[in-house]
Amino acid sequence: NKADLTRWSWVEIDRGALRRNTRAYKNLLNPRQRLCCVVKADAYGHGAVECAKIMYSAGADMFAVATVNEGVELRQGGITKPILILSEPPIEAIPTLLEFDIMPSVYTSDFALAYGECAVAAGKVGKYHLAIETGMNRIGVHYTQVLDFVRGINFHRGIQCDGVFTHFATADEPSGWDYKLQCQRFTEAVQAIKDAGFECGIVHCANTPSSMLDPSMHFDMIRAGVGLYGMQPCELSGRVMQLDPVMSVHARVTRVAHPAMGEGVGYGFTYRVPRTRVQICTLPIGYADGLSRTLSNRMDVLYRGERVHQVGNICMDQFMVAIQSNPAHEIPEAEYGDEIIIVGRDGDAEITMDEMARLRGTINYEVACGFGMRLDKVYV
Ligand code: PLP
Repeated sequence: NKADLTRWSWVEIDRGALRRNTRAYKNLLNPRQRLCCVVKADAYGHGAVECAKIMYSAGADMFAVATVNEGVELRQGGITKPILILSEPPIEAIPTLLEFDIMPSVYTSDFALAYGECAVAAGKVGKYHLAIETGMNRIGVHYTQVLDFVRGINFHRGIQCDGVFTHFATADEPSGWDYKLQCQRFTEAVQAIKDAGFECGIVHCANTPSSMLDPSMHFDMIRAGVGLYGMQPCELSGRVMQLDPVMSVHARVTRVAHPAMGEGVGYGFTYRVPRTRVQICTLPIGYADGLSRTLSNRMDVLYRGERVHQVGNICMDQFMVAIQSNPAHEIPEAEYGDEIIIVGRDGDAEITMDEMARLRGTINYEVACGFGMRLDKVYV
């Protein structure tokens, strides 16, 4: 709803694309396997509650977040499906987990036992997923110590293992030795838990690239993130599945200036007007909206279906573009209110999250998260 805008800059979220991408991941699975949609970081900048509702309608079975507050936001937004936090929260957060029925990842016995005590006191059973460290060296119980860990906490009647998982460091290279080693360690750890007679619940490890490139690692559930939002996790995955971009970034011209040749633009005058008839248009998006200052004087935007150059240093809340006015070639004067596309498609021209990521020396994940921070979101 554009009328809600408080500023002439916004991201558009394409509900249809999000629905199609979610169905595409669901279609990778057999009827017994589940789809966990990763909606942490406000659904990678796309708006967690709105996205979770669309994903739910397209077949999501579970949602994964990074923080307790993100889980509470989903519950308060009306999401009733299971919610998993992808790391172990502070012990102080346990009452909130129980109140909102949010599952933590568990990998310390201190947390597990405190969770159990609190659950018993509240007359509840606290479900959790056991995280296994198989090589990324980030979170989890080391794969060689899993059985001891499970034996040490399993007696507690206040807790129940709902799932067992690990996370891959190199899933974009599924033929690589590092990936295969993590697969082997995980498979063996899960088998050891089962052989000892303990309940594993839902076994899961595949993120977006692994879901697309390695069906042998789907187990009971996949945890898809970036692909749901229409971004490819790696070059290889682009050949496996077509995904539709979900987020596009837009702004309207708030001022058109006609500085004289030689005048500077923006902080530090890193751009000087090189000739006559250059129009400098101001757009209300800046680095506090996720448009990294490292892109200054290096990026293009789309104006009336054509690429035009961004000029001068990107400011906190605004940036400028140069549009050559040329009545002889029928390039019309830029006008207050003209729409500019920062990421997205306009006719045949397109600027992708990947293009921005390459220019910034980062990944599409970070670019999308950045745009979600402050800009208004319009669901179309
Ligand atoms: N699982 C875990 C534990 C994660 O940390 C992440 C994202 O960082 C995901 C799944 C989703 O990854 P992707 O966005 O590559 O699908």
